[in-house]
Amino acid sequence: MKAIVKTKRTKGMEFIEVPTPKIGIRDVIIKVSVASICGTDVHIYDWARWAQHRFTPPRIIGHEFVGSVTKVGAEVNLVKAGDRVSAESHLTCRHCYQCSNGYSEVCRNFKLLGVDHDGAFGEYLVLPEHVLWKNDEKIPDEWATIQEPFGNAVDTVLAEDISAKTVLILGAGPIGLFATGIARACGASLIIVSDPNDYRLAISKKMGAHIAVNPKKQDVTHLALEATKNNGVDVVLEFSGNNQALNQGLKVITPGGRISILGIYERRLNIDLNKDVIFKKIRIYGITGRKVFSTWYKTARFLSSGLVDPSPIITHQLPLKDYEKGMKLMKEGKCGKVILKV
Ligand SMILES: [Zn+2]
Ligand SMILES: [Zn+2]
Repeated sequence: MKAIVKTKRTKGMEFIEVPTPKIGIRDVIIKVSVASICGTDVHIYDWARWAQHRFTPPRIIGHEFVGSVTKVGAEVNLVKAGDRVSAESHLTCRHCYQCSNGYSEVCRNFKLLGVDHDGAFGEYLVLPEHVLWKNDEKIPDEWATIQEPFGNAVDTVLAEDISAKTVLILGAGPIGLFATGIARACGASLIIVSDPNDYRLAISKKMGAHIAVNPKKQDVTHLALEATKNNGVDVVLEFSGNNQALNQGLKVITPGGRISILGIYERRLNIDLNKDVIFKKIRIYGITGRKVFSTWYKTARFLSSGLVDPSPIITHQLPLKDYEKGMKLMKEGKCGKVILKV
């Protein structure tokens, strides 16, 4: 079969012929129909510092997908051939302390699909049955593939109640944009989205942002205070991974408010804990992975019910072989979500 493989410890990847994977007794084989590119895939493509420490070639990459089960192992009973599935990308151990206590998103032994286990950017992939998610028939393939990052947004937005709250969203990459739609669907009364990329700010308006602000051109703090009658926002959702943006969020958050952080920072942060956290009595939530499978249920309902229409975010659809075009678009930021048709 053909697949996108990270073959060497340098920048780039190859679209090459590889053996079709074989299954064990608790595995299934899935024919991929649609996949989507994540920031993680771009970091692997670029051979960024994170990838150099975390990734061992050769490996088929990709973890966001939808496909149909073609064959199941002898002891598989959760899915059958023909089922249309996606998967939780954290392949959990199901036995550690965290898995046993309802925190499998921080499993101590998890393997990451497309990093530690051959991924979805190929014609077929093999997965253990316990990570599979059966898709709602009302959700088209182009939406089903984005459920994994959409789930990140669900957990970031819904770490606490958001209805009628004032919200500042920092970072309008695909996950920040999903979060905008979710916050709007859940009845946030004011949504301000901040991002230096005007292309993505325009999408945030389509997703329900009341105010879209470019921090290179406008003063976000001033704008947010003005829009909240000097109270500051109730909720900050941090997706940018930018130290400056985070500090801006902490300044603008109203005392007693909360911040959920999904962004990943390249360096150690410089935060004034006393002034911006403790004496303001704000609550900070670190968000990673997804709740298995409660987040997936919420995600599927947001998408199948029409509560959130992600189509403005899905800006590009390319054949799998043109993945390099997709990587380029992602790096330039001239896109929302880029989808690959397998
Ligand atoms: Zn992802
Ligand atoms: Zn575990």
